Amino acid sequence: MRNKIIAFLLFGLSLLISVPNSSAAEFPLINISGNSHSQPFDTLKSSLKYISTNFENASQLDWETDSMGIVNVSLIYDHERVSPNRANGHWHFKLEADSGSEITIILKNFENVWNGIKGVPVSEKTNCLISKDGKNWSVIPADFISGNRLKFTVPMKSDQMYVASVEPYRISDLDKLLTEIRGKPQVEIMKVGNTAEGRPLEIIRIGNPDAIFSVFLRARAHSWEPGGNWVVQGLIRTLLGKESAHFLRRYCVYIMPMTNKDGVARGRTRFNTNGKDLNREWDRPADRILTPEKYAFESWLEMMISKGKKPQIAIDLHNDQGGNIHVNLPSEINSQYVSNMKRIETLLYKHTWFTEGPSHVKNPGSFGEGLAKRYGIDAFVYELNYEWIAGLNKAPMGKDWELLGKQLAEVFYLYFDKKD
Ligand SMILES: [Zn+2]
Repeated sequence: MRNKIIAFLLFGLSLLISVPNSSAAEFPLINISGNSHSQPFDTLKSSLKYISTNFENASQLDWETDSMGIVNVSLIYDHERVSPNRANGHWHFKLEADSGSEITIILKNFENVWNGIKGVPVSEKTNCLISKDGKNWSVIPADFISGNRLKFTVPMKSDQMYVASVEPYRISDLDKLLTEIRGKPQVEIMKVGNTAEGRPLEIIRIGNPDAIFSVFLRARAHSWEPGGNWVVQGLIRTLLGKESAHFLRRYCVYIMPMTNKDGVARGRTRFNTNGKDLNREWDRPADRILTPEKYAFESWLEMMISKGKKPQIAIDLHNDQGGNIHVNLPSEINSQYVSNMKRIETLLYKHTWFTEGPSHVKNPGSFGEGLAKRYGIDAFVYELNYEWIAGLNKAPMGKDWELLGKQLAEVFYLYFDKKD
């Protein structure tokens, strides 16, 4: 009996081996399930082998290839706790396909809900970025098509190509920066708490802790918005570069470089791992359990205030489609705040590539309003446009945002020169 089974298996194997190297088009898909939904191989006109998301900051997605060979990618929404709000906007994945071929992709699920209102985070101005190695990126055009979808074609310059919405800045990039600056005389890297998933949260000091003037910057409260990370990297390197003494004799900088680390690690769009928006509810003390990222910052800030070291300015760095600075308290009661914001705005026009101007839309509970009201700090949100930098007339890349960081060093220097 055993010999019969072996003979049968060998016969079956010989049939498989005897199949010539014919193209897949000649063979229908073997219907292993016995149902009637088998599909011939020849419908797979794309050379795509796989979409990989097994690396840090890769986005969550689902995909299927249609009969034309177009790869339809469904991004997975990021949802807010106790809220109708949901967000997509981050895409970051790796195509594995024949080198020399082209893969056409359609991305969908951009029907976001933001502050309870529907909004679409892509437009005719949206581009897409591609890279062979995940480090050196270039821009390719994208078409905004019906159904709020985005269509683009990726030239496979290798058998694997990374695709992303904006130039990624990952936790490993931050770790490299921290290694680069750790131990320098003007640097202190303080661990101020942990994210909801236990990742360490840092605040970096650059400069003399006894300086009269200081600035606080927060980056990456929303995990898909890497612009702020590039800005603070450019700022930090400038403050530690050849003009270090010039800047640091006048002011000190404190930076929380990556607030929503869990979201960055998991490739999420906006909310922290508990479904909370880290740029909301700043009109009240942070929830220690649901938003430990905010709690860590507030505890540090209150410690600094108790030591008489309250920063004069606080800036929360974000990405959006507007590129404005958000001056959230335009009222006569806050005349000093308003005039200080005007002063910052004027310096930004003069010494950086910023041209987009202020927005006076009220956003209760945002970082800018909350810090100004609760702590009396001149705080505002700076939204870096992720589609286009008007002042440079180009789609933004990491180095453009690093340049802004470099230019901010001079803005702060002049801001704190009260005689200027
Ligand atoms: Zn944001």
